[in-house]
Amino acid sequence: MNIVLLGPPGTGKGTIAQFLHREYGFEQLSTGDLLRKEAAAGTPFGKQVEPIMKSGALVSNELVAEIVASNLARLKGKSLVLDGFPRNMEQAELFEKIMRVHQVKIDLALNVDSSRETVVRRLSARRQCPKCNKVYGENIPPRKPGVCDACGVPLFQRADDQPEVIEKRFSIYLESAKPLLAYYQGQGILKNVDGNQSVESVFQQVSAVLGQQKGL
Ligand SMILES: [Zn+2]
Repeated sequence: MNIVLLGPPGTGKGTIAQFLHREYGFEQLSTGDLLRKEAAAGTPFGKQVEPIMKSGALVSNELVAEIVASNLARLKGKSLVLDGFPRNMEQAELFEKIMRVHQVKIDLALNVDSSRETVVRRLSARRQCPKCNKVYGENIPPRKPGVCDACGVPLFQRADDQPEVIEKRFSIYLESAKPLLAYYQGQGILKNVDGNQSVESVFQQVSAVLGQQKGL
């Protein structure tokens, strides 16, 4: 069974992907993590995407699709949860082609729906350690406010977590998500969970949806 996670930035998709891995054994295919890993490892692909990511621009749909395709080949036969892809219709169409080649299909599009207010509140609370890169937030606050537990150095706020930038990211998300949600709705595989709730409640909702899937 393969799942695509949908929802705005800051809705907790990464946390849910980890939950699905821990509780149900899904392999996590997070495009953000994969791109960062390639860049850090200095592979030919990583060298191509690193300057784009550093500039703050979005990596092209074709390049993101390329890394998804190579990882689908690597994870052949496993249950997958995709986090961060597809995020627009062009990527969804590229993905259809990739899935045909690798004989994979998506069984469930799980939309973790959070309001603009929730997203702004969560992302503006997010702080990162400049030394170990650990990210703190609403659900994982540092023991001492503004200081990394492990390194003892002051945390910083990422430029794209400033309130004005978050508002803009949310608007961009809404625009690209609308046709994507309609597309999966049309395939009859879209399920919604309320991402405004606590982490525990969101996990419960996700488990309930998976329970229904098995019953089909
Ligand atoms: Zn640290």
